[in-house]
Amino acid sequence: MPPTTPPAKSPARPKRGEGQWKLGHREPLNPNERVKRDDDGLNVRARIENIYSKQGFDAIDPSDLRGRMRWWGLYTQRKPGIDGGRTAALEPEELDDRYFMLRVRIDGGALTTEQLRVVGEISEQYARDTADVTDRQNVQYHWIAIEDMPAIWKRLEGVGLLTTEACGDTPRVILGSPVAGISADEVLDPEPAIRTILDRYIGSPEFSNLPRKFKTAISWQQDVAHEVNDVSFIGSVHPEHGPGFDVWVGGGLSTNPKIAQRLGAWVPLDEVPDVWAGIISVFRDYGYRRLRHRARIKFLIADWGAAEFRRVLEEEYLGRPLVDGPAPATPERPIDHIGVHKQTDGRNYIGVAPASGRVSGTTLVALAKAAESVGSRRVRLTPQQKIVVLDVPDESVAALTEELAGLGLQADPSPWRRATMACTGIEFCKLAIVETKERAIRLVDELEQRLADVHPDVPISIHLNGCPNSCARTQVADIGLKGQIVTDADGNQVEGFQVHLGGGLGLDAGFGRKLRGLKVTSAELGDYVDRIVRNYVAQRTEGERFAQ
Ligand code: SF4
Repeated sequence: MPPTTPPAKSPARPKRGEGQWKLGHREPLNPNERVKRDDDGLNVRARIENIYSKQGFDAIDPSDLRGRMRWWGLYTQRKPGIDGGRTAALEPEELDDRYFMLRVRIDGGALTTEQLRVVGEISEQYARDTADVTDRQNVQYHWIAIEDMPAIWKRLEGVGLLTTEACGDTPRVILGSPVAGISADEVLDPEPAIRTILDRYIGSPEFSNLPRKFKTAISWQQDVAHEVNDVSFIGSVHPEHGPGFDVWVGGGLSTNPKIAQRLGAWVPLDEVPDVWAGIISVFRDYGYRRLRHRARIKFLIADWGAAEFRRVLEEEYLGRPLVDGPAPATPERPIDHIGVHKQTDGRNYIGVAPASGRVSGTTLVALAKAAESVGSRRVRLTPQQKIVVLDVPDESVAALTEELAGLGLQADPSPWRRATMACTGIEFCKLAIVETKERAIRLVDELEQRLADVHPDVPISIHLNGCPNSCARTQVADIGLKGQIVTDADGNQVEGFQVHLGGGLGLDAGFGRKLRGLKVTSAELGDYVDRIVRNYVAQRTEGERFAQ
């Protein structure tokens, strides 16, 4: 028999690139990458100022409308009257309203009362009195007309506030501790690092074309959800070098949620901006641009691991090794800054809770006035959709607390008001399937009545999201509610939620369990939460937390 010839092997296929620039994989481009390649998103500002605001909505180029406008904090809002069942079935332009949502970035959540007043007055004048405090310490307006943008920017920028890169594939607002610089629990105030990053890099073409959004948190305390940001710097004391920051990378929620990993590196305060720039540069150059749903840094970190990421950062970008550092201790309880607390200078800060972050321009103007009436000039927003008034003298605490309560801003809220958050939802968001904000507010009212006899020693967090995107951090809530259409007892398709139970941050960092088949209609939500909380309280053992 003749020797058999092995079948010819098909030629080895070159491994398909993931769109990493540094490896030369620049093609093919998905539609978002094409828009960014064709023109820097930052350049749309001039067209808004010079053309669109003068000629109106219909003059807006579609690739600006659904792409580059975001680089200046603008998204079209959802056209009213389209129910959530049709969200996925319609083309984006069918969901577009002629009005915009506008996001104002408030890095570190820090506002002067003058800035707060301007934010409130813009809401009254241009945004039908809407102003939501988001869980990224932004303020979000709705009903913005393109014609009004030049005047709005003039007023915001006149007091040092920006909408630059508030959305888009950019370095978004930097989360910071609402009590940075005044808290007795803080060893080192990271504000100078936040300020330097803002001044050097925000609005710079160096980082205005990232594979996807890039979320940063910098805080001494663990009060900024650092486990679910793209990069975080968290206070840590090095045994030899003293106070500095521990670096975390690759956290994120939405689909494929990931808890961030520590690089095991300690960074002194004055090096934070350089290390931040190195990390975002690795992401810009090695991030996966081919498929948009794999473009966040968490996918790169998941593939490489923290050690390889650190090696590339050190060798290719920083040109030096980082100092190894210890992990900071995890606090026993979640930190939300609600209530009256002493500052290091003897004055007080008062943390108050609007229901699910919903306020109004009128409320913000009144808040600025109330704070100033007791000599305060500083207010901070929190990553839990709450507000903190700083620098309140002892003798004014009681009167100010009462005045704020009259504005719907309670310093001693029920556990339900304190720990409930909601995303924008179907009222304005084009991706939404269900209504969230007003549902959350009604839920808080309902739970305050129904559970008046229940006093959990740690608030049970309830986060409502209008779709799987997790803008209100569904997966890290005790009770996470992900909006979807569900079938009610009569067989009707109605708004409801998939329930995730037992997620958390800090000691309980991890994602809630999605219980198969555990869905609840929006109308039944009060009954459901009432039942689950009572069961937990009845069965819990001493010291047991909800997530355990
Ligand atoms: Fe919109 Fe979904 Fe984000 Fe809610 S979670 S704001 S519905 S994208």
